[in-house]
Amino acid sequence: MNLLIRNVRLIDGNGGDPIPSVNVVVENGVISWIGEGNVAPSTHPHYEDINGEDLTLMPGTFDCHEHFAGDGGQNGVMAMNDDAPEVLLVKAAANAKRALMTGQTSARDVGSPYGISITLARQVATGAIPGPRITAAGQWIQRPTTWPYSMVHTIETAEQMRQVVMSQIAQGAGLIKVGATGVREDGTDYATLGPEIAGLVVNLAHVAGLKVAAHCTGFVGATEAVEAGIDSIEHCTNIDAHTAGLMAEKGTVAVPTMSTWDYRLNAAVRWGLTKEEIDESEARREASRASFRHMLDAGVKIAAGTDAGGSPVRHGTIVHEMEVMIEAGLTPMQAIMSATSIAADITGTLEETGTVEVGKLADLILVDGDPLSDLGAMRNVWAVYQGGRRIR
Ligand SMILES: [Zn+2]
Repeated sequence: MNLLIRNVRLIDGNGGDPIPSVNVVVENGVISWIGEGNVAPSTHPHYEDINGEDLTLMPGTFDCHEHFAGDGGQNGVMAMNDDAPEVLLVKAAANAKRALMTGQTSARDVGSPYGISITLARQVATGAIPGPRITAAGQWIQRPTTWPYSMVHTIETAEQMRQVVMSQIAQGAGLIKVGATGVREDGTDYATLGPEIAGLVVNLAHVAGLKVAAHCTGFVGATEAVEAGIDSIEHCTNIDAHTAGLMAEKGTVAVPTMSTWDYRLNAAVRWGLTKEEIDESEARREASRASFRHMLDAGVKIAAGTDAGGSPVRHGTIVHEMEVMIEAGLTPMQAIMSATSIAADITGTLEETGTVEVGKLADLILVDGDPLSDLGAMRNVWAVYQGGRRIR
């Protein structure tokens, strides 16, 4: 299928000014020509010819922090504890389709029970089921005790870590996800990995061409993860100016998952949360926003991720995450980059996706309106293409 999208406003994902009117040609799933003015030259006689007037053409979006096995909702990640692997895989497939239909053409799945996200990613890649292109971590890996869940793979020694990382790589993981922070009963936090094991994970993953994502809700563990060369810090609830500076220096990407905290507060009344629970959520949101400001001041690269499935957040809600980040200080263009080019970079797929450029896969959305003046326009998705194939 070859496409010609005519007279469309272009936001290419690289951060430059939008171009008011371009024509874009897609041939065999790849963007082959972009130009202002006249219709593209081509030897192909048959195009699906689309009038893009008053629409905005953008890269399909990414969610850099999802757990497709989870549906979200009040029980969040805990709901996954009770399901058998085959049930989780069916739910994950349904969630992947939901996300795709919103215009989210790519995703990072940063942890699934039994590592089912690797199977999910493969089945999407073969075309067996619809979904975003998924870079999947497989299992979460921790030393005690970032997470209290039974479905997480917990190791003690460096040798055990080596074995479990190699096993994820052998199974086809697209990244490695570790827990790096723990919180003591008195509320103080600590680094769970230790520099030797953190460094080992980074080396093993990088040799295999994979990136490492670390769950960090505490300052000490985040600092250790950044120093060890871990590629992305997830959640980032307690990042101070020093650690933010270090992240900027080392090119560590932040995935702040800010809508997670907002979701709980917005649902507080209907869930009947106690005053203590609400206060706790408010404190987390404030810590997250303060960290975000430090990271913005330092110039840290920010990638958009919701923690859908691992928290109450539902899949296919990256636009809300972008809106919360704009509220916290990003410009609309920075928010768009966080869900497109920067997201593709940390997902490891920037060579093929994340921007609208000649030679890239045609993972595209056409939205009704101008997202730079109202980001909510990104919810008015008129068309979604993945590899040049119309999905919606
Ligand atoms: Zn998560």
